Amino acid sequence: MKFVGTNIQRMFRVLKNPNAARKHRIMAMINIFGFCYFVVMNSIVNYVGLFSVLPSLYGDGPSMPLVCHRLLSIFLVLNTLGNFFLAMGTNSSLEAVLATLPTSITAELEEHLGRQKVKIRCRRCVTLVPPGSHHCALCDVCVLRRDHHCFFMCTCIGHRNQKHFILFCFWQTAAGIYAIFQCSVHLNQVYGMQLSSLYNWISCFHVAMARW
Ligand SMILES: [Zn+2]
Ligand SMILES: [Zn+2]
Repeated sequence: MKFVGTNIQRMFRVLKNPNAARKHRIMAMINIFGFCYFVVMNSIVNYVGLFSVLPSLYGDGPSMPLVCHRLLSIFLVLNTLGNFFLAMGTNSSLEAVLATLPTSITAELEEHLGRQKVKIRCRRCVTLVPPGSHHCALCDVCVLRRDHHCFFMCTCIGHRNQKHFILFCFWQTAAGIYAIFQCSVHLNQVYGMQLSSLYNWISCFHVAMARW
């Protein structure tokens, strides 16, 4: 998990590096903003959900439905944030993948790659890399089975953290559907908004915000 801080520090290093390409410095800035945006928005949404929306629907006092919905919300939040920070905190570089393999297998792999007719050599790392690897300019490492560079997690999604990323997407979607359902009922009960009329929703939104 110490890699969470390492990822953010790395983005700051790219941002401050005067020799880094302009587009990479802009992307590093978006990374830092993306991470802050995720943390701040998640905190606000969770706070409003737990202490404003749910009590307005299930009563302020300690009632069974309120406790159950709060527990369900906390369960969804913990799974979402847990997988977010696990994906972010896992070193997804090819070097980390090779470090987990026994030395005999690593040597065999190097020998196998060396025998290939089409040699895949990373120009930045100056080393032979297995097919499917990709060098990320922002992370400045080769990543095995790289999917994409996540601008919210400040790291690449690859072989080592793919599982946590997929679980994060699943739990975030589940939490989003649950939140939309609860907020729809809340807005309907408190402000009389109807989901059937999108215009009504948009026009009444500022009234809801002002009252809240
Ligand atoms: Zn590389
Ligand atoms: Zn990356």
